[in-house]
Amino acid sequence: MIRKLFSFKGGIHPPQHKDISTTQPIRPATLAKQLVLPLHQHIGESAVPIVEVGDHVLKGQKIARAEGYVSASVHASSSGTIVAIEERPIPHPSGLNATCIVIETDGEDRWIEHGPAETTYTEMDASQLRNLIRTSGIVGLGGAGFPSYIKLNPAGAKIDTLILNGVECEPYISCDDMLMRERPEQIIAGAKIMRHALQATQVLIAIEDNKPEAHAAMSEACKNEENIETVLVPTLYPQGSEKQLIKVLTNKEVPSNGLPVQIGIVVNNVGTAAAVHNAIDLGKPLTSRIVTISGEGVAKPCNLEVPFGTPMQHLLDQCGGLRSDVDRIIMGGPMMGFAMHSTAIPVIKTTNCILAATKDNVTPPSDIMPCIRCGACADACPVELLPQQLQWFARSKEFDRAQEYNLFDCIECGCCSYVCPSNIPLVHFYRYAKTEIWAQEREKEKADQARQRHEFRLSRIEREKAEKAARLAKKKAAAQGADGNKQAAIQAAMARAKAKKHAQGSEPKNTENLTEAQQQQINNTDDMRAKAQQIAESRRAQAQQMMTGKQAKDEKK
Ligand code: SF4
Ligand code: SF4
Repeated sequence: MIRKLFSFKGGIHPPQHKDISTTQPIRPATLAKQLVLPLHQHIGESAVPIVEVGDHVLKGQKIARAEGYVSASVHASSSGTIVAIEERPIPHPSGLNATCIVIETDGEDRWIEHGPAETTYTEMDASQLRNLIRTSGIVGLGGAGFPSYIKLNPAGAKIDTLILNGVECEPYISCDDMLMRERPEQIIAGAKIMRHALQATQVLIAIEDNKPEAHAAMSEACKNEENIETVLVPTLYPQGSEKQLIKVLTNKEVPSNGLPVQIGIVVNNVGTAAAVHNAIDLGKPLTSRIVTISGEGVAKPCNLEVPFGTPMQHLLDQCGGLRSDVDRIIMGGPMMGFAMHSTAIPVIKTTNCILAATKDNVTPPSDIMPCIRCGACADACPVELLPQQLQWFARSKEFDRAQEYNLFDCIECGCCSYVCPSNIPLVHFYRYAKTEIWAQEREKEKADQARQRHEFRLSRIEREKAEKAARLAKKKAAAQGADGNKQAAIQAAMARAKAKKHAQGSEPKNTENLTEAQQQQINNTDDMRAKAQQIAESRRAQAQQMMTGKQAKDEKK
């Protein structure tokens, strides 16, 4: 049956350059002396080390556990000794260092004891499968690195279609192509496990028509499988992007800021499917991946199966080394990849390609010219954004306006930059604007947390004050109660004594019951007091008369 296909707006046809790395079969990379395993190789929280310096580890042994819901475990990618847990350069556009576990390999590459689960996947429920996939450290191998067990948890949504993405639309990259050619049965086995976990009705395996060998191998591998179908889609960049591929295969559109699961669809990379098969059917956690080493700057492009943590220089050396005119090393493709500042940086779970670009491959920044408002960028944008306006908003730091123009719907595919006749690096401005917005949000979050802490402190101080006042008031009331009781007790005692004396009739009265002699003595004293009073009054009268006479004389004078 020929499946009806649909299309998305925009897109471009850059030269493919894929055949330079597909002339030889996949081969295992040689083992490096040191493997540097970053704790952060995925979207979400960094893993937490569970080993110490000096520990001997085996291949496949968990050395860092996932932390939080969106996270992924890290496993030793070969046997050896942990020689450091420290900051090292990691593959990230920021060029910053991050914590890594460093293994000095022992050359034996000895696996930890492992094997398939006791039951087959059909006897396991979705939760058991997700737990095993989480324990195995599997993340999306298409480039984003989202923990796979989360994608296999549709949280109650009915999933109609599981899409396996074998489009691989970016120039130079061929690791999925080679995996599909050489290991199609692993991909189909993984697809069946994921379909079971999701209870999906059908599986569509999308492959661009520039990979006829891969399409043939995959079609052969699934020819007897029910509801698993390969779909050949026309080559067009960026068709491998999730939303664009869904539109092409189903004509459905994922809502802005939404997820495919909202329209009953889950998309996984073909490499992720093979990793799921290895984890569930063989009991092998994710310790390696296929990496394309390509570009005009490397002598012998090819695809290698690479243990995580292998330094990029180690792989370039196995491909004949770098040519003298190499300009930069890019992780990923020329459209969406980013330049490495050192070839000592290790391969991680999301490293699909190491591209050695020559000066001819890279547009010199001095060629940038003013925008001529030709509109070519808008025509090429697969998300139907207005790249020119977005660029102005980003340049002028009008980040609110940029968000109003759906900056965060931009998938950074680079189509706008690719077609711009003025060579304006438009995507750089969008990345800058996104980074600034995230930084501002982080700052705001920090400020909010600081404000909350300050408010909490003030409320604690107020509460403590109130509690202290209440304690003091209680104490005072208790003390007053004690004083009151004491006074009352004294008064009661006095009242009791008075009542007793009254009852006995013994209240003293010193003018009653006097003897005759005592009464005579009192009378004599009263007489003497009266005479003395008369003498004093007559003297006061004489003095008054004398004073009046003297005043009269003075007035006559
Ligand atoms: S393609 Fe370049 S020159 Fe043309 S409108 Fe867009 S930004 Fe301006
Ligand atoms: S990089 Fe963003 S704005 Fe430019 S074409 Fe792609 S999605 Fe559109």
